[in-house]
Amino acid sequence: MSELRELYQQVILDHNKQPRNFRALEGATHSANGHNPLCGDRIKVYAKVGNGLVEEATFEGTGCAISKASASMMTGVVKGKSLEEVARIFDNFHRLVTGDPKANTESLGKLAVFSGVCEFPARVKCASLAWHTLQAALTRAGSTISTEGSGAEDTVG
Ligand code: ZN
Repeated sequence: MSELRELYQQVILDHNKQPRNFRALEGATHSANGHNPLCGDRIKVYAKVGNGLVEEATFEGTGCAISKASASMMTGVVKGKSLEEVARIFDNFHRLVTGDPKANTESLGKLAVFSGVCEFPARVKCASLAWHTLQAALTRAGSTISTEGSGAEDTVG
């Protein structure tokens, strides 16, 4: 198990060092800002949706290795998926990082590298920030979400 965990860490560090899809997206149909005040993660997620499919997703921002790696992998995973599929993957991913035994790890593929996060409750929000932000972008145009309530921003758990 420790070897597996080491591999997971390498994947996360690699995505942190060389984030994929790390740019603003020209022609984006949806975008939203996400903020995790507990850690200081701030990201903006862009998506281009056509025919009910996420044709492309990108992100910008600053944050810890987990939040960046999660956003990097997420933008790769959701590409070409329908909005329903994205919502389903997010649901499973959220179960995974919160340690819910009902998580369908198999369907998550490489996102399973985040399974270790459930042992670190403070990191759960880092790992799920990009997903909450994408969800906000896809369902409410141009909004800002926060993992902590501040009044001005929508709060997610
Ligand atoms: Zn973080």
